[in-house]
Amino acid sequence: MSDRLAFARALYDAVPLYDPKRTPVDLDLTDNTNLWGLPPTAERTLREMAVAKVTRYPSLYAAELKEALAAFVGATADRLVTGCGSDDILDSAMRAFGEPGSVVAGSEPSFAMIPIFAQMNGLQYVGITERADHQPDLDALLAAKPRILYLCSPNNPTGALLTRETLERAVREAPGVVFVDEAYAEFSGVSAVDLAMRVDNLLVIRTMSKAFGLAGLRIGYGIGAPSLVRDVEKSRGPYKLSSVAEQMGLAALRHDMDWVHAHVALAVENRNRLAAALRTRGYTPLESHANYVCVPVANALEVGQALRARGVAARPFAALPHVGDTLRISVGPWEMVERFLEAFDAATMDVNGGTAA
Ligand SMILES: *Cc1c(COP(=O)(O)O)cnc(C)c1O
Repeated sequence: MSDRLAFARALYDAVPLYDPKRTPVDLDLTDNTNLWGLPPTAERTLREMAVAKVTRYPSLYAAELKEALAAFVGATADRLVTGCGSDDILDSAMRAFGEPGSVVAGSEPSFAMIPIFAQMNGLQYVGITERADHQPDLDALLAAKPRILYLCSPNNPTGALLTRETLERAVREAPGVVFVDEAYAEFSGVSAVDLAMRVDNLLVIRTMSKAFGLAGLRIGYGIGAPSLVRDVEKSRGPYKLSSVAEQMGLAALRHDMDWVHAHVALAVENRNRLAAALRTRGYTPLESHANYVCVPVANALEVGQALRARGVAARPFAALPHVGDTLRISVGPWEMVERFLEAFDAATMDVNGGTAA
């Protein structure tokens, strides 16, 4: 028997609530946030926040923050839209550009929220398995005639970077709008923003949740042609960013860039050290351009459980195409990585008898 109400939309029968099974654990390396903490001026801004900032409404569309974000990515404020996390940009943009039943095509594996946002907006999601070289299968994606084509670079969970050639062809040949999710672009140093400044069908989606250490504030943004981002802004609606988020985001962009750059460099260094440590153990991690490492490990779900039993969480994926079971490990300070490696050695010994991959 269904507990669905008579007036509920049939569409929502199939929409799941997102549950990455993130139960509290001593050392959580599952969500790719900044494990070094909060940028210092952003933190001071929070502690000194005027009460009046909270009693009144925030700005309508975060105009000041748009200016600062535009300067950061090399765009202009008329080409920028902010949202309550990049999740909100993705959701609002799907609502803005999808007619009921429109096709959203996405390369897989990728961000788990994409099919859910498509369903939430009454759109039809088509997932296309990536190629063995971890590039999207653009022929198959374009054959689906998507109104919205979703790509992610560096991709979550593989860490692979979209080639410039694939990006440019996607934008040239897609029948609708192309989304490029750049949640981890700061760690790769590569971005499609310059292309978004020149074409009218590309929306680049970024966030302050990962490199900037501000995931709890929910600050996402999109960059694209002025008329494109204005429609996302209409769909998003006013007052989506809290005044606390706007002030702290501004403080970080104005005063904490040295901190951000230094910690991006540390994340890249420790990511490479972690990959090397895994290779020493006989594993073959995928080449990552983000702040995590994705490594094929036999029985990853069981290994994930055994890690949890030791107080450490990494994100397991079952049977990823071309690579099989994997673990995705967020990178933080080296002491955290060492603690992970210790738990990993014990967990893989328990589950796989110490045999690699
Ligand atoms: C974390 C993540 C997001 C969500 O970021 P928010 O800005 O916190 O909503 C979007 N896309 C990808 C690929 C992510 O990994």
